[in-house]
Amino acid sequence: MNLNQRPIALLNLVGGQLCLDFVNTVGGRKYLLSADQTSDYVIIDEKLTDCYDLLAWSQLTKSLPEDQIQTLLLESQHGNKSIIKQAIDLREAIYRICKQIISKKEPNPLDISVLNQTLSIAYSHAKLVFEEGEFFWQWDRNSLDKILWLIADSAAELLTTVDLTRLRECGGNDCCWLFEDTSKNKMRQWCDMQTCGNLAKVRRFRSKLNKNPK
Ligand SMILES: [Zn+2]
Repeated sequence: MNLNQRPIALLNLVGGQLCLDFVNTVGGRKYLLSADQTSDYVIIDEKLTDCYDLLAWSQLTKSLPEDQIQTLLLESQHGNKSIIKQAIDLREAIYRICKQIISKKEPNPLDISVLNQTLSIAYSHAKLVFEEGEFFWQWDRNSLDKILWLIADSAAELLTTVDLTRLRECGGNDCCWLFEDTSKNKMRQWCDMQTCGNLAKVRRFRSKLNKNPK
């Protein structure tokens, strides 16, 4: 199977953190009451449809070494549906936690507990190893779940060590991709200038034309 031909393998990695790139594995999110960004939302163009997509994303982000991806690919021939539900639940919990932080509101405890559940499993599989004169952390097994452990670990790291005033949600219509704004002036508005940035420019131009028709 050629993982790099899946739509998820073509995504732009604009998040700046592994967990944010994982949040961005959707075409977008549409709020049911568009003026109310606290209402329920639906996913537009879900990119995470099966465990092969999860592996393709790990290959794209290089979050797992290639040999581990190939081993998991062989083991996944029969598919594994429950891991995708867990992955999407974790992804949306991270999205909503970050969105609340961006809106300077308290995250929902239910979302924090979804993240904590994955973290507690993840850390029960982490062990210290000593090799070539150095200690480092290692996961005790290679499995599809490990991809979720890495994502949860990245989210914990983001929420506890990164300057959260740099966390942004793209200003594009129904985009809702997240990113860490590392620009000097902290003014980045778009996930990507080539996509949402350009669309916004076109919209601004059109509304100007409508106001001042020639
Ligand atoms: Zn965007």
